[in-house]
Amino acid sequence: MCGIVGYAGTRPALDVLINGLKRLEYRGYDSSGVALFFEGKIEIQKSQGKVENIERLLQQLPAERKNAYRVGIGHTRWATHGKPTTQNAHPHRTGHVVLVHNGIIENYLEIKQELIAKGHRPASETDSELFGFLVLDAMDGGLGLVEAVRMSFLRLHGSCSVVVMSEKEPGMVVGVRNGTPLVAAADEQGGGVIASDAQPIIEYSRDVYFLEDGDMVIATEKGLTFSEIRLGQPVRRTPIHVDWSIERLDKQGFDHYMLKEIHEQSVTVVDTLNEMLDRAKADPFPLAARPGAELLSSASDMTLVACGTSWHAALLGKYWLERFARVPVSVDYASEYRYREPVLQPRSVVVGISQSGETADTLAVIKDMKRRGVGTIGLTNVRGSTIAREVQASFHTSAGPEIGVAATKTFTAQMLSMLLWAGHLGVKRKTLPPTMAVRLFDDVIRLPLLLNDLLARDGALVRATKEIAEKVRNSKGFFFMGRGYSFPIALEGALKLKEIAYVHAEGYAAGELKHGPIAMLDESMTVVVIAPKDTWRDKSVSNLEEVRARGARIIGVGSAGDTQMERLSDFWIPVNTAGLDEGLSPFLTAPVVQLLSYYLAVLKGTDVDKPRNLAKSVTVE
Ligand code: GLU
Repeated sequence: MCGIVGYAGTRPALDVLINGLKRLEYRGYDSSGVALFFEGKIEIQKSQGKVENIERLLQQLPAERKNAYRVGIGHTRWATHGKPTTQNAHPHRTGHVVLVHNGIIENYLEIKQELIAKGHRPASETDSELFGFLVLDAMDGGLGLVEAVRMSFLRLHGSCSVVVMSEKEPGMVVGVRNGTPLVAAADEQGGGVIASDAQPIIEYSRDVYFLEDGDMVIATEKGLTFSEIRLGQPVRRTPIHVDWSIERLDKQGFDHYMLKEIHEQSVTVVDTLNEMLDRAKADPFPLAARPGAELLSSASDMTLVACGTSWHAALLGKYWLERFARVPVSVDYASEYRYREPVLQPRSVVVGISQSGETADTLAVIKDMKRRGVGTIGLTNVRGSTIAREVQASFHTSAGPEIGVAATKTFTAQMLSMLLWAGHLGVKRKTLPPTMAVRLFDDVIRLPLLLNDLLARDGALVRATKEIAEKVRNSKGFFFMGRGYSFPIALEGALKLKEIAYVHAEGYAAGELKHGPIAMLDESMTVVVIAPKDTWRDKSVSNLEEVRARGARIIGVGSAGDTQMERLSDFWIPVNTAGLDEGLSPFLTAPVVQLLSYYLAVLKGTDVDKPRNLAKSVTVE
């Protein structure tokens, strides 16, 4: 799940590659590298670690040289085969062929043995490098670069994309996609850009081609051409216009993208509302008419499949869909579901939820369900992503680009989307009484304002979470607990803390603590109790007392004015739930656990936006 950029055109290619790789670093950052044409020869610079390392290497080049490049490819790696060393970093050179690769070549052992038998000697431990030998042999056999790449790619098993250049045909960058994402755009100034997602591209054009599996794209100074790899025939592809603005990609004065993204959640809510609803209609929850709305309405039951944070959002989706729409919902990890034997009804619908729309396991479930003729819905934050295109009907969360690897605003957008589905179905199925629907919808419309207050830049929540993080930074471990709507938030809080602060944390349903984990509690532990005023609040307070009795430190997160909770907690974080339907508290408690994890991570000195061992788009199993 690396990041790839390729460019052929009239601009200084090095800038295009470096800026592009920086925008793609969220996809992996074990190592990075660039390969550029200079006077017919390809020069490669690569290094272990982040893109800034190759930038440092490149500083030694004279300025005129740096400006002279017009054609090149770049890569930021998330290692699957071989350690994250400079030797294994991409681009890989094999004779006159240079390539970058994203994904896995599943039959690499077979190919490797064949190449070694022919006398080839790969220099790296990667599966990727082998592809270069295939292309080289094919070109030595008389094929041109495009044909050689096509024929070689047909030999590969597994999901991957490759972008290749050859000194025999300077000025050309050839990209092929099968399973992992690849997009392209014609540069308005002439030439073309190829990349793993649209972020490095929108500087040059907003009309982005999302390649299909089996597509090949060729970029030269003249622009782009497309063909399919099976027979090598030219194909026509239509671009999708993307509306993200460049300045939304920048940090806007925040120390990290993650912090900026936490703070922009009121905008996320507005954007997602605008995307999902038909605001010309006066009834509550007027979902915009689209195929997905039809499919949702026809479902006898739903299975929500997801991974990580999306799975937590799905759990909340279940609570809302069951309560408001009375539809049976099950929630599953995609990696488990894909290998099980689920029992499905004729009108069952399977919903794949994925921020990137590329999550390998979720995608596999969707493909499998399609094969079985089951209705599929996708909820992703990337238009044109593979899941969005594979499903029968797709919904878009409209959170805008999320650069921080740990999901925050996309979690909120996912929650909101499913809440809107639940409200809409409730109204349609008459399981949500009209007055209740109106009230609930009014509450939803209030969310942006409430989030705006809660997330004021130097407001009370920021100050409280910062201060508390300082006081609990040396805790041996953390528990997050909650009941009802606060249970998925407890899970999410623990996940965030692990992801970005590398601190051991567990999320529990508050009632479960005494069935085992309570044995771990003592003065060295901190327990975050999420208990806004709702149906479960009193039960959670009893569980809080149990924790207190064991000496653990308590961070209470509850409704403003809950003096009892405040008194029982060592640290108190109030949120304003007054008058709000109890089902909506996750929108206010999620930012609390996000900020708490953020400030703990900052104190620990971790790389918040790019935590170790993670990648934003998990395109491997
Ligand atoms: N399998 C290749 C490697 O390990 C590519 C991994 C990636 O997608 O970054 O180098």
